Parts: sequence; structure tokens; C-alpha cells
Amino acid sequence: MEWNKDAEDAIRQIPMPESMKYMTILYAEKIARKRERAKVSMDEVRQTGIDYRDLFGDTLMRGFREFSAKGGVDPEVSLNEGPKLYQFELCHMRFAGCTRQLVDVVPLAQKIDEKLREWRVTEMIADKFDVPFLPHTKFTVSISSCPNNCTAAEVKDIGIHGVAVPVFSHPEQCTQCGKCADICVDKAIIMGKDGPVIVKKHCSLCGACAIECPQGAMAIAERGYRMMVGGHFGRWHRIGRELFKLGDEEKVMKALEAAIELLRDKAGSEEHLYHLVDRYGLEPLYTKLI
Ligand code: SF4
Ligand code: SF4
Ligand code: SF4
Repeated sequence: MEWNKDAEDAIRQIPMPESMKYMTILYAEKIARKRERAKVSMDEVRQTGIDYRDLFGDTLMRGFREFSAKGGVDPEVSLNEGPKLYQFELCHMRFAGCTRQLVDVVPLAQKIDEKLREWRVTEMIADKFDVPFLPHTKFTVSISSCPNNCTAAEVKDIGIHGVAVPVFSHPEQCTQCGKCADICVDKAIIMGKDGPVIVKKHCSLCGACAIECPQGAMAIAERGYRMMVGGHFGRWHRIGRELFKLGDEEKVMKALEAAIELLRDKAGSEEHLYHLVDRYGLEPLYTKLI
């Protein structure tokens, strides 16, 4: 679509991480099409700025601005730099936060990177693959900050996302407004006569009900990580299996070490973690977590 020159310059000024700039461009073009305009003008750019500010809020937009001002180096790019046979995918929280964030994905990724280097995982994978390496040779690690799971943790060798356990901590403060039930996209909250009841088996531990409760009647009891292993993309794709629904960083690192040991000890030529999960189940990993 064609753009007026001033609009073209202005859209780049909306503070946004580099990888999301195209979203604002496409959004402005969509508005122009809706308005039946032949070219994108400053009107559409202004509307784009307003809509993104409404979506992200002032704090996050300020964070994006500061991130760009500091040079805007993407932590995911830095982590994946260099000759490695493992790869990280981190959710967009990595730039300057996210309205839904529960944990900081960057320090955890850096810690995992350090360990994978220390355990010489690149060399280990290289020695197991007797064919020239391709991108799908890599051991993949996905870390999202919340259960929205923007990095598709289920199709990675290791998939992690942040979780938060809600608790109805101050029933005396509850006005029975029902906001917590309305906000729960998993429909895990039933409004009872004494206030909200959380149905644990439906709760994905996103923490939204506690964060959004206007009375402070709900709180987050604990934050941690859900971890999946053995996912894979491509022709023989696999959905990773849940190793645990809630664990702390220590448990994540232990599970990671167990997965690497399993690969080192049992993987045959050109085998990924999913082959081992198919063959042995999760038992060899569970036993290392006790
Ligand atoms: S996974 Fe959650 S915190 Fe991360 S970008 Fe998606 S919505 Fe935001
Ligand atoms: S949002 Fe808070 S105040 Fe409203 S019903 Fe839920 S717990 Fe009670
Ligand atoms: S934590 Fe999320 S999924 Fe669980 S009850 Fe609250 S809003 Fe629903």
C-alpha cells in the first residue's frame, strides 16, 4: 500500500521493538483500507499510536522507548549468536516487559545458556549427528513469561512458561463483583455464595484474576514455571509432554540437566529428545527430580 512521506516517517517513531514495527505498519494500512483511503496518512498513524498505547499502556510504551534508546539489542538475538547447536526462543516480554508477564524470561535464558555451554551441548549434539548440520539439528528451548505461551513451548525440546498460583486470600474484602470470573478465559472461576471458587483442574495459572481483582481479595500465592519436554516441529512433529505444572528455577535447572544427560547417554545417531521421550517416557527425568 502507498504511504504519504510524513506518515512513513512517523510510523517508525511509535516506540516498538524492531520485530514488532511491521505490526504497526500493517495495522495503519488496515485502518486506511477501512477508511477507503488510497494512501496511508498521518491520521492512520495517529490512530495506530493511540490503539497501541491503549493496548500496552503508558508504562510499557515508555519501556519500549527506553529499550530503543539504549540501542534496542534483542536479547534473543544475542543468546543465539555464534556457532551453537541449540537455540532459544523468548517471548516478547524480553524487550521491555508485557502486560501479562509473570517472570523475567531473559535471566533464566542466560542461566540456561551458561549451563548448555558448560555441559558442551553443542559438541555433544554435533558428535551424534553424522550428517551436515541444518537448523532442525538444533536443541530448542522456548521460554514464555506467562501461559499465553507466545513461543509455542509445546513444540520445542524444552518448553517453559511462567505461572502464578491464585488464592482467594482476603474473602472479607470481596464485593462479589465477579470481575475475576469474567476475566478468566479458562472459565476456571465459579462465583459461589461466599465469593469466587477456583476450579484447579481448569486453571492454567495465569494469575490474571489475582492481578485484576479491584479489592485485593485475591493474591498470587506463588510464582514459578511449567515445563514441557520432547516437543518437536516438522514432519515428525510432537507435542511436548508436561514434566511439571509448577516448579521453581532450581527444579527447571535440574530437569534440564536430566534431559541433557538422557540425550548424552541414550540418544542414537540423529536422535532428538522426543525420540527418547517416545521410547522411555518421562520416568528417567522424574527420577532425577526427586
Ligand atoms: S507469553 Fe505472556 S508475557 Fe510473554 S509476550 Fe506472550 S502474553 Fe506477553
Ligand atoms: S474480582 Fe475480587 S472482589 Fe470481585 S469477585 Fe473476584 S475476588 Fe471478589
Ligand atoms: S489464574 Fe488465570 S486461569 Fe486460573 S483462575 Fe485465575 S484467571 Fe483463571
